[in-house]
Amino acid sequence: MLNLHVPEGINYECSGCGHCCLGWPVPLTTEDYVRICEYEESAAGGASGARAAMRALDGGSDPALTKFTHSLEKRADGRCEFLTEDDRCRLHVEAGPQMKPTICQLFPYNFTETPSGIYASVSFVSSAALFNAGRPLSEQNGLLEQKWEQFRRVFPEGSRNWSEIQLFSGQPLKWDEYLQMDSRLLELLRAEQPEGIERRLAACSRYLVRQAPRGVDFERMPPVEARPKVVDQLLVKWLMEFYLTEDVYACSSFDLYSQALFADCAKPPPAVMVADGDAKCSFNQLLSFELGLLEPDSEDLLSRFVYNKVFGKLYFGAGLAGLSVLGGIHHLLWLIALIRLKAKILCISQERTRLDFQEWAEIVRTLERRLTRVTYSAESTFALEILITSPERVGRILTIAR
Ligand code: SF4
Repeated sequence: MLNLHVPEGINYECSGCGHCCLGWPVPLTTEDYVRICEYEESAAGGASGARAAMRALDGGSDPALTKFTHSLEKRADGRCEFLTEDDRCRLHVEAGPQMKPTICQLFPYNFTETPSGIYASVSFVSSAALFNAGRPLSEQNGLLEQKWEQFRRVFPEGSRNWSEIQLFSGQPLKWDEYLQMDSRLLELLRAEQPEGIERRLAACSRYLVRQAPRGVDFERMPPVEARPKVVDQLLVKWLMEFYLTEDVYACSSFDLYSQALFADCAKPPPAVMVADGDAKCSFNQLLSFELGLLEPDSEDLLSRFVYNKVFGKLYFGAGLAGLSVLGGIHHLLWLIALIRLKAKILCISQERTRLDFQEWAEIVRTLERRLTRVTYSAESTFALEILITSPERVGRILTIAR
């Protein structure tokens, strides 16, 4: 019997906006490649442009991607070859959903296999997921089971390795122990108080710190020339450039430059500015501009984004970069802080006080796109753990992002 866990409060049904079909090359299995080429050639009565739109992949080193032999490239305007003027998938319209590439059929569902079952979640690249549009996932079990079967056929490598999870770096954790913490974390994230998902994440952090043996020192940063507040600023600058780069698909770098970040910490620049395109802000400007509580729909978006990641186990261990549970919760808190800081920079540079929901959604979409592409070397994971595990740093980043 399939032990499929489905999150509450997360809705999704395709709204047909076409946003998912922009910008990213779609990986194709050999079956996808043959099926689509044959369909296109049969429809054209001979040669078609389909083969030219698909590039053979060289295999690469990522074992999760060895199933994919080709890639469906985008046109010069960033749109998929099969996206019609009215933002429909021509393959779907003409020949049904089974004609689409497998990855397109699976999108935006994600499944994380763990020792306690399979956890479903969705990608917030999708407009419907961002807007929470459609029926709740919890009412779509039959469809999710089908998607899981399809997902398993494409990614048959089996259960991810959850045998080496840690509460914090150096503190091993058994899966059963984690599960008890997991229910408390989800409870804290869904609580009505405190308001603001960043504060509820901080409550999760305090809860996890209390689970650690007495006397543990979470301040693990080696001595560097930069003062702690300057390290905070450098981390904001680097992570902002890393996660919220505008054109995530044009960016060819997928790993945090942890060595360069540490080099900056060891020999800090005279002043640190945070940039978003042409807009630049000092930390004094960021500190003196307060966003406060967001509008309910924007706050709900950030809360769903976090809840979906925690429920789906996509924030620690085999779910993200091998981070510890505490490191993973702090990393999520940093992501929310970066989203808020990006909003602050926009407001300051455009002399506004608020962003509307659509603008918040686009920031979250950019971040989620980036998260689907980044890879973390062992050095990056180590650097993140050292830099973000500190509860004191969490307090300071919350102040900058308030
Ligand atoms: S094949 Fe269809 S569903 Fe997939 S990206 Fe292209 S237009 Fe979108």
